[in-house]
Amino acid sequence: MRKLLRGKPVAEAIAAAAHKRADILREGGIIPALAVVRVGDNPGDLAYERTILKHAEAAGVEVRTVSLDADASQDVLSVVICQINEDPSVHGCLLMRPLPAHIDEAAVCELLDPRKDIDGITRASLASVFAGSGDGFAPSTAEACIRMLDFYNVPLDGRRAAVVGRSLVVGKPLSMLLLARNATVTMCHSHTGNLDAITRGADVVVCAVGKARAFDQRFFSADQTVLDVGINFDESGAMCGDVHADSVESVVAALSPVPGGIGSVTTAVTLDHVVTAAERASLN
Ligand code: NAP
Repeated sequence: MRKLLRGKPVAEAIAAAAHKRADILREGGIIPALAVVRVGDNPGDLAYERTILKHAEAAGVEVRTVSLDADASQDVLSVVICQINEDPSVHGCLLMRPLPAHIDEAAVCELLDPRKDIDGITRASLASVFAGSGDGFAPSTAEACIRMLDFYNVPLDGRRAAVVGRSLVVGKPLSMLLLARNATVTMCHSHTGNLDAITRGADVVVCAVGKARAFDQRFFSADQTVLDVGINFDESGAMCGDVHADSVESVVAALSPVPGGIGSVTTAVTLDHVVTAAERASLN
């Protein structure tokens, strides 16, 4: 493999640029602020919250956390979201998901003001991604993939991209973002036939499936750029991606590692969106 696509320098560049813009807002008395809303104490949510808190300062963003008990009602959560909508000192809201089963997640997401939807969870935000209008925020992980490819100068115009996974969080919006960059995109999923032939024939492959080390060298070919979005834990509890990195590294041209790849870029993109939301609010 010629290149390991590390997330850290990408995240640092995004945060540094966001910080400069946040400084300009501060001079005008505006402090970009993010509300992180968590229901219950899911370890994954807690870990993500800690990561956001750790990196917020580098991007010039203030973070306020709202934590509700795991049995908090949908009404209580709805009031929290509405208060965030009404609070002019909060510019973005990150709602930890999935929510507990007793809450109608789709209904709660729809309550959020799309202008504060910095992780692309509302229909309005997704519509803007699909329409290519640029006025909403894409889900941070999908955008993180594009930022990673841009940072490492991976060409997309006219190239073939295979996206494995079709969730609304990653696969579908990422496919639209790649299409907007003039890639020819094949969206793959659990019913896709000859998946290995499709991924082998692409210039850029993104694996966003959630299956530990499921994609080995049979799925890849030389000169490819591979982004591994998966966050999984193997039998020994070690974090790993969807790509079997040990067997794939010697085959492809470039691969993003797990950990140390897309995850850190996702955090930086989320914070960058908060600064953008604050800039847009300042113009109103
Ligand atoms: P998801 O909602 O469970 O979607 C998984 C997708 O993978 C589905 O579209 C599914 O197809 C497809 N799939 C499952 N098995 C497959 C197979 N054997 N071959 C081809 N496609 C297959 O998951 P998600 O939320 O998109 O997350 C995917 C992974 O990314 C997870 O590991 C998650 O932890 C990780 N993730 C990472 C970040 C980050 O910042 N790095 C952020 C979000 C998610 P069907 O639609 O046919 O079921």
